[in-house]
Amino acid sequence: MKKIQMVDLQSQYHKIKPEIDIAIQRIIDSASFVKGPEVKEFEKELARYMGIRHVTACANGTDALQVALMALNLRPGDEVITPDFTFIATVEVIALLGLKPVLVDVNPDDFTLNMVSLKKAVNAKTRVIIPVHLFGQCSNMEQILSLARENDLYVIEDNAQAIGSDYRFSDGSINKAGTLGDIGCTSFFPSKNLGCFGDGGALFTNNDELADQLSTIVNHGMKVRYYHDMVGINSRLDTIQAAILRVKLGYLDDYIKARQKAALYYDNAFKESEEIIIPVRNSFSTHVFHQYTIRLRNKNRDELRAFLQAKDIPAMIYYPVPLHRQKAFQHLGFQDEDFPVTEELCRTVLSLPMHTELDDEQLDYIVSHVLDFVNAH
Ligand SMILES: *Cc1c(COP(=O)(O)O)cnc(C)c1O
Repeated sequence: MKKIQMVDLQSQYHKIKPEIDIAIQRIIDSASFVKGPEVKEFEKELARYMGIRHVTACANGTDALQVALMALNLRPGDEVITPDFTFIATVEVIALLGLKPVLVDVNPDDFTLNMVSLKKAVNAKTRVIIPVHLFGQCSNMEQILSLARENDLYVIEDNAQAIGSDYRFSDGSINKAGTLGDIGCTSFFPSKNLGCFGDGGALFTNNDELADQLSTIVNHGMKVRYYHDMVGINSRLDTIQAAILRVKLGYLDDYIKARQKAALYYDNAFKESEEIIIPVRNSFSTHVFHQYTIRLRNKNRDELRAFLQAKDIPAMIYYPVPLHRQKAFQHLGFQDEDFPVTEELCRTVLSLPMHTELDDEQLDYIVSHVLDFVNAH
């Protein structure tokens, strides 16, 4: 059996090696490493895939979130609401820009923004909501967008984990995750569902004016060379990464199907178990399984992880510490009592190996050991 990894990027590369190698060599031969023509081509192709008017490529997903906030003309102290249970990047950029991060608890079943807590957090200083489509499934965007409309708030989607996911509104219309709010952000970090061979990211919007701001900010606030209209940053996608992403974008739907197939294998193996809680599927969103994350009802998650480790099965805890308890945010004075669900999730979640290359032999090995643990211990 092939060694089991959380993410198997070598095997994935091997299957498309000739195409990728040609793309990389083409950029080296052109020596057009920054802002080469293939970046524009990639932006156009990704816009077509997403069904959105504008895509702005940038250097990574964290920058995408920062640039989105920079484009909204916010003032120091303006409040930005985001979930307590997410990767640090989402809240980091809020603090970096001198805005006030307001953390909100999540739902126990789909791990995304809880509407009751979200509504309570909105006040006169609130300007932006950043929902995170965690692990590959959309937040309840219909409710979030309507709350935002009522209160005149911007919505920036953190779509780093859910690219390719489809959101279904109650009128039946279907749109891609990341195209639903004012601005969508994503990451092409290698392990993400659409990953490049280094760092990369992108911003999505249907708003022409915002698109103009975003593409200016990522390039030193410059539209005409050496004329700087605003304070920007240097956040560009390398041409080599764009060329790699053009190839991989063609496989994204197949990659999603492979992840969903592995998820179904896990589901079928675990659904009868009284101990394992499998990931919920919301009716309004497809799940693209950036992670397959289970929870244990009574047994000790850390013991399961150690048990699997001993059988050469990696498993990861996303995320072990709630954001409100991170040292970096102690000065904000959050209270543990306000985040009971996040506290519980950090104690109980475990993400199993999930990638495009898992075969049945590996999946069978993983599920049989997980079941051994929960049934025997
Ligand atoms: C990966 C990730 C980011 C940051 O993307 P980078 O490209 O690593 O900067 C932001 N938010 C979430 C939810 C992520 O998973």
